[in-house]
Amino acid sequence: MANIVTSSVEPVEATLAPETLDFGPPPANWRESMKRAIRDPEALCQRLGLGSEIAAAAKASQGAFPTFAPLEFVSRMKFGDPRDPLLLQVLPQLAETESVPGFLLDPVGDMPAALEAGVLQKYQGRALLVTTGACAVHCRYCFRRHFPYDSVPHSPVQWKSAIDRLTADSSIEEVLLSGGDPLTIVDYQLKQLVDQLAAIPHLRRLRIHSRLPIMIPGRVDDSLLEWISSTRLAVWFVLHINHANELDAAALAAISRLRQSGVNLLNQAVLLRGINDQADDLVQLCGLLVDHGVLPYYLHQLDKVAGAAHFEVPLQRGREIMQQLRERLPGYAVPKYVQEIAGQPNKTPCE
Ligand SMILES: *Cc1c(COP(=O)(O)O)cnc(C)c1O
Ligand code: SF4
Repeated sequence: MANIVTSSVEPVEATLAPETLDFGPPPANWRESMKRAIRDPEALCQRLGLGSEIAAAAKASQGAFPTFAPLEFVSRMKFGDPRDPLLLQVLPQLAETESVPGFLLDPVGDMPAALEAGVLQKYQGRALLVTTGACAVHCRYCFRRHFPYDSVPHSPVQWKSAIDRLTADSSIEEVLLSGGDPLTIVDYQLKQLVDQLAAIPHLRRLRIHSRLPIMIPGRVDDSLLEWISSTRLAVWFVLHINHANELDAAALAAISRLRQSGVNLLNQAVLLRGINDQADDLVQLCGLLVDHGVLPYYLHQLDKVAGAAHFEVPLQRGREIMQQLRERLPGYAVPKYVQEIAGQPNKTPCE
């Protein structure tokens, strides 16, 4: 009975071209997923059945920030749709090559905030470690797309001076692992780093900012859960999901595994033109997040980074969307709409 029902509801989508969307055998682990990620914009367009014009424009526009999109993420994009909200996050566009006044290389003042290589402190009690330059996806609007990652520590030995710095400053209670994406680092190295952090008596909380559980759900494997659930530090995990379509069954299962390990889950999204700038998009996303135990934390106004001007949503429009969210969602599902202004002592509310 069950079998008959299952086979009779097999989805059939007329637009699918199965041979194009054949992603091959499932990857053995997350590192293999990283290796198999699409790095060529023309290959990306070809897989999605997009014309050669779009592909050529993408190739010509990526500049020094190459295309990078894991197959797990690409498989959630709609075939043949150049406006797909997931595709637009990763596909280079000609608009990136235009220089727009006010859009800068370091819009959020990372350089002046560096205590030393790889350690940023902007806010009281919280320090941020730039652990690596690698990510599981290259988001075209990334505010660190021009960050000089070559200058940050890349191995446990090199992290030593960062650890010394945090040890010497007893006002720091929380360390944020950022990057890049800290979960591109292998678990034995992360565990070493987190053990060293946990040994600093005045540290209370560890925050991990990562897109990996969504981009490559296989990243949430036993070895990750092992160190994350055994540290004495309270772990706050901040995901970065911009659209409900990112949350397929595999991504939701990764979220569920993280929750079961006892970490607190938050989400930050960036308000992006053409991607999630309709109230409906964010109502759907935030509702789905709270259904799965993830609290919407921040909705970021776009950082004015060079090459990303085409993603900007005017503040006034953002405020209108926020009003809709307040009306249509339970209070706990409404994110804070904020902007990062260089030199300010906190993220600045936009409302
Ligand atoms: C955003 C950010 C934080 C975290 O700020 P919260 O408001 O606590 O989320 C900490 N350090 C740096 C450098 C940041 O950019
Ligand atoms: S995952 Fe984060 S750091 Fe990496 S490119 Fe995307 S926004 Fe930037």
